[in-house]
Amino acid sequence: MLNLVLFGAPGSGKGTQSAKLIDKYGLHHISTGEVLRDHMSRETELGKIARTYIENGQLIPDDLMISILDDVLEQEAKGKKGVIFDGFPRTIPQAEALKELLQKRGTDLHAVVGLEVPEDELVERMLNRGKETGRADDNIDTIRKRLDVYHNQTSPLRDYYSGTGKYLPVNGSGNVEDIFTEISKGIESLG
Ligand code: AMP
Repeated sequence: MLNLVLFGAPGSGKGTQSAKLIDKYGLHHISTGEVLRDHMSRETELGKIARTYIENGQLIPDDLMISILDDVLEQEAKGKKGVIFDGFPRTIPQAEALKELLQKRGTDLHAVVGLEVPEDELVERMLNRGKETGRADDNIDTIRKRLDVYHNQTSPLRDYYSGTGKYLPVNGSGNVEDIFTEISKGIESLG
């Protein structure tokens, strides 16, 4: 199996690059943001809880998020060539849980691809996405909160994964195809 985390700030292109990785490497995509938005649109109990956090730019609590991911892995990951985790982990406890969730399924995390994009470009991309898709959390107030949460709670994962030798930094600014070429080279260098 090839299990990858696509890591980066909101607006760094995780969704765009995931779609290309799925095509090229035949991996299964798990986006925790998409899982939550699907619950919100179906107005499930979980969707109602998720909405209160998402619309405030806050993270869903770790225990809840980890149990959701465990369920999604159970339903979707069996027999797959590998998984791209998009938007998970976002905290150190989530990273530790991911390790355990993979280990209990007899597999491991192979690399963390870090999309590095300057902050002004992130804001511009999310504002454009908000206009194009109507995504509720892509408005300037919520974007600012999401970036604060990213700096405080998520960016420490960069050092966490660098310490394990699994972090592959990629310049996530500019042309989608060039970024994808750099990611592919990184993945192929894993051997
Ligand atoms: P995303 O689509 O990955 O940008 O996620 C959208 C929103 O869903 C985030 O701002 C969080 O409120 C929530 N979310 C997604 N993934 C997670 C996670 N791993 N932990 C906590 N909250 C999450």
